[in-house]
Amino acid sequence: MSSIAFVGLGNMGGGMAAVLAGAGREVFAFDLDATALDRACDAGCLRSRSAAEAAGRADVVITMLPAGQHVRAVYEEAVLPNAKAGALLIDCSTIDVESARAVAEKARQAGFRAADAPVSGGVAAAKAGSLAFMVGCPEPEFPEIEAVLQPMAKAVFRAGEAGAGQAAKICNNLLLGVSMIGVCEALALAERLGLEPERFFEIASNASGQCWSLTSYCPWPGPVAAAPSNRGYEGGFATAMMLKDLKLAQTAAAAAGASTPLAAQAEALYALFDRLGYGEKDFSALIQLLRGRLEELG
Ligand code: NAD
Repeated sequence: MSSIAFVGLGNMGGGMAAVLAGAGREVFAFDLDATALDRACDAGCLRSRSAAEAAGRADVVITMLPAGQHVRAVYEEAVLPNAKAGALLIDCSTIDVESARAVAEKARQAGFRAADAPVSGGVAAAKAGSLAFMVGCPEPEFPEIEAVLQPMAKAVFRAGEAGAGQAAKICNNLLLGVSMIGVCEALALAERLGLEPERFFEIASNASGQCWSLTSYCPWPGPVAAAPSNRGYEGGFATAMMLKDLKLAQTAAAAAGASTPLAAQAEALYALFDRLGYGEKDFSALIQLLRGRLEELG
């Protein structure tokens, strides 16, 4: 079984590395944050003193870092100079398509196999090993990548060549960010028109307004028990994270010459909500801004 270097043990990476160790993999872990590294070691990972040391020990290198600049730096300074010959490099961070393609290209020039494999599903799915992975890699390499990711996954999709995993991820989150605002607006209007929001939920769930943001993640507390709206909008997908992904989508759209006017509006709304101090709240909490009831967020 291949040994794994895991770099970036934060909210997501910490859970993922623990799942791999729990599945019996040898996991050489590193994070700049000593607490995150201690937590991973308590969960069965092996301590490395640097990303370079971890990368030099393993057959597969997985990175789960905040943004494109972190991935570029870790690849250039630690992974590419130190990874074993022929190692498989998988970046699971959500980053811009351009950085994903650039690091994959550099990795290939240095003789490594490389894939981008961002994930859908939050911290709970990372801990439970039930993430959805969207992979950008050459087709012949996919089976091996799928086998490495499998313990952490409920599904592993190949989206296309290098960068295609990031493209799929940011397009999906563009759709999610826009659809959630539509659901929030509809529920806020239903309330103003004197409709019971729960009744409107029931009707729209069975009519053409049905969508995941409504039926699986309803921003109005009550109808969907597991939704963050029932927990004070805590512990879901942070507004700041959605904002980051919409910025990635807008940058990609500008570079590709694509028109994304609703995503631009959505980005502006989440940015406003973030600036008002609600960046840590789940993105569905935006309904309280639209209702003019921010005081309900405490
Ligand atoms: P996080 O900030 O909790 O974790 C990132 C970790 O990387 C931190 O522990 C940090 O210390 C570490 N790090 C940064 N630079 C490093 C370096 N040079 N060497 C070693 N470690 C370094 O972030 P997260 O929530 O775990 O998210 C990670 C990625 O996953 C992001 O790209 C995010 O967009 C994506 N993502 C997050 C979620 C979510 O719900 N949190 C869901 C899907 C995807």
